[in-house]
Amino acid sequence: MSTAWCQTAFHGVVSVVEVPRGAPTHLRDNRAPTHRRLRLRTAAPLRPRPRARRTRRRTLLRFVFILRRPLGRFDPECRPAQSWLVLASLCPACAGDVLDTATPCSVVNYLRWDLSAQQIEVLTKELIEQTKHVYDKVGSQKFEDVSYESTLKALADVEVSYTVQRNILDFPQHVSPAKDIRSASTEADKKLSEFDVEMSMRQDVYQRIVWLQEKVEKDSLRPEAQRYLERLIKLGRRNGLHLPKETQEKIKSIKKKLSLLCIDFNKNLNEDTTFLPFTREELGGLPEDFLNSLEKTVDDKLKVTLKYPHYFPLLKKCHVPETRRKVEEAFNCRCKEENCAILKELVALRAQKSSLLGFRTHADYVLEMNMAKTSQAVATFLDELAQKLKPLGEQERAVILELKKAECARRGLAFDGRIHAWDMRYYMNQVEETRFRVDQNLLKEYFPMQVVTRGLLGIYQELLGLTFHLEEGATVWHEDVRLYSVRDAASGEVIGKFYLDLYPREGKYGHAACFGLQPGCLRQDGSRQIAIAAMVANFTKPTPDAPSLLQHDEVETYFHEFGHVMHQLCSQAEFAMFSGTHVERDFVEAPSQMLENWVWEKEPLLRMSQHYRTGSAVPQELLDKLIKSRQANTGLFNLRQIVLAKVDQALHTQTDADPAKEYARLCQEILGVPATPGTNMPATFGHLAGGYDAQYYGYLWSEVYSMDMFHTRFKQEGVLNRKVGMDYRSTILRPGGSEDASAMLKLFLGRDPRQDAFLLSKGLQVEGSEPPSC
Ligand SMILES: [Zn+2]
Repeated sequence: MSTAWCQTAFHGVVSVVEVPRGAPTHLRDNRAPTHRRLRLRTAAPLRPRPRARRTRRRTLLRFVFILRRPLGRFDPECRPAQSWLVLASLCPACAGDVLDTATPCSVVNYLRWDLSAQQIEVLTKELIEQTKHVYDKVGSQKFEDVSYESTLKALADVEVSYTVQRNILDFPQHVSPAKDIRSASTEADKKLSEFDVEMSMRQDVYQRIVWLQEKVEKDSLRPEAQRYLERLIKLGRRNGLHLPKETQEKIKSIKKKLSLLCIDFNKNLNEDTTFLPFTREELGGLPEDFLNSLEKTVDDKLKVTLKYPHYFPLLKKCHVPETRRKVEEAFNCRCKEENCAILKELVALRAQKSSLLGFRTHADYVLEMNMAKTSQAVATFLDELAQKLKPLGEQERAVILELKKAECARRGLAFDGRIHAWDMRYYMNQVEETRFRVDQNLLKEYFPMQVVTRGLLGIYQELLGLTFHLEEGATVWHEDVRLYSVRDAASGEVIGKFYLDLYPREGKYGHAACFGLQPGCLRQDGSRQIAIAAMVANFTKPTPDAPSLLQHDEVETYFHEFGHVMHQLCSQAEFAMFSGTHVERDFVEAPSQMLENWVWEKEPLLRMSQHYRTGSAVPQELLDKLIKSRQANTGLFNLRQIVLAKVDQALHTQTDADPAKEYARLCQEILGVPATPGTNMPATFGHLAGGYDAQYYGYLWSEVYSMDMFHTRFKQEGVLNRKVGMDYRSTILRPGGSEDASAMLKLFLGRDPRQDAFLLSKGLQVEGSEPPSC
């Protein structure tokens, strides 16, 4: 509601705006860049309010503002619910501007990749000593000396330098081509993780922060500093620093064990070198370029490893069931003995720690910090979705069973009337190829890596108002790696850099992921540090006869992970703790999932494809089929995601759940396809030890938001619409974790999020909505 307009001595405009409690806190701040607050809660409404509105008074704050520039778009008659959005749209922290232009920027890349194993060891020790020194200083000061500078700022500053140095030491474990460096880096990670636990359990530091909170006047801190303060106290309580010393000691020792176990769990998987030898006949159905890329054994058999670029194509295309069975079984038996033992210990220790902290289950402990809040909310979400998807899954299963029957008859194989785990991907792929008639082998010829990269980078640059520049001759950790610098197109200012490390090699991290390496935040001297991230993936390698040709799902992964890179680079938080993807874990996937939509839309697809030999565009017909095939196997694919999410929830809500048994039970119950006897999928489930404990549901949960954002804005206003892209950059990417996800979403959507677009995208009916047209 806007009631009074007048020019003031401040050359501003006085206005009354109603701000709901869910709005970003800095909009209520007295030193917000767009406005100055005159007073809080006007004593009485400036004009009589209709009865219905009066009931909302509790949730609305009414502010009088002096706006620093006239609100050209501000419509005096606009509805109160919108008026704060208009105000927000003028606020650089919310929308409009995407850069923190008030702060000088430091474009230095502080990272280095030339350390020897020995240097890693020495520097780890030094880093621990230097950082501990700061904590000691903060923790030993007299209470009367405690100030913002001596406590919060000191901790924030050391966090910036520590994060960068830590990444230099622990990132090589995932990517270094040298085994001794990987081992030294893993050792460094273990030492630093133990040190992290020590520092997180510093009661002396915690007590000074609590003291500061009691002492400091709330309005004297900038909103993000206030959030930082509150977060540190929350984290302190979540570590039990308010509990008796004895309990704290127990928690500390559990935390240390947990971090070591997690490192070992994933290291075992990364370092797994299992391979299976097969003859060419046993690999029937796989394309020539795939077979030619395989190494040979001494007796001239072909080596199939269990890395993604071997595993997925084989399960999809090999028409010899016995080969698929062997590979699927080996894949789900990776590190079975050692990781099974680790997992058992992990789950028990997590439950013990959560109980010491007063939580019923580990899931409840974890979820307190997420959008979902409780394990009950997660269970309801997953159960309802499973229920809705069940009929679709049954239909799809019947279809693939028919395909299997037909194939068995064609190839003269015995038909056992069942779908096995090793049949799933094979027949799901057949559904795409026969029902949707998408020939993946033909399609990939249009996705050479270079063309995809050029198209993808082009789309991101245009959409988000950025320019990328390849840095020739940059120092990197392997010859495959490229480094790009990123500028804001409008101002020309460098905002960050990213590394692309796209092909598999021995000992390298086995999945696709984005690693934040240098947080974009303020440094000790107040200058802004540029953000640097690395995208690490395992895409199909070039062969002597063909360049790297990407499967369409690899293109999707590329878009997804690059979305995380953009999140890291575009955020303009003040504190490292809120930089980049440091948002709620069940929201963190939403920004990159939203950007996956571009690989299912005609215009972007054409921009990132070209036949590797003829240079021709993807034929219209193939393109249409591909886009339609997005609906293929939705039921089974999502039911499998629910199985994984529920295994994760079960392990972290029940005591004594047997991982392999629980997985087998859920596969049968929800997916209707049994797990292969003797396998132990949870022992290979890296997420359980990779920071996603009790949070795997987040992939589906955040899809609700990603679909809502895409359909509400981009699909309506144009998928390559620059204005929406910039809104997206400023409202969703820019804040990092400095705002609650719910507030960012509200700002971008102009309303609270809804589930409709998500359900429609899964092929489900929503009352009052049309099915999606694709
Ligand atoms: Zn992701």
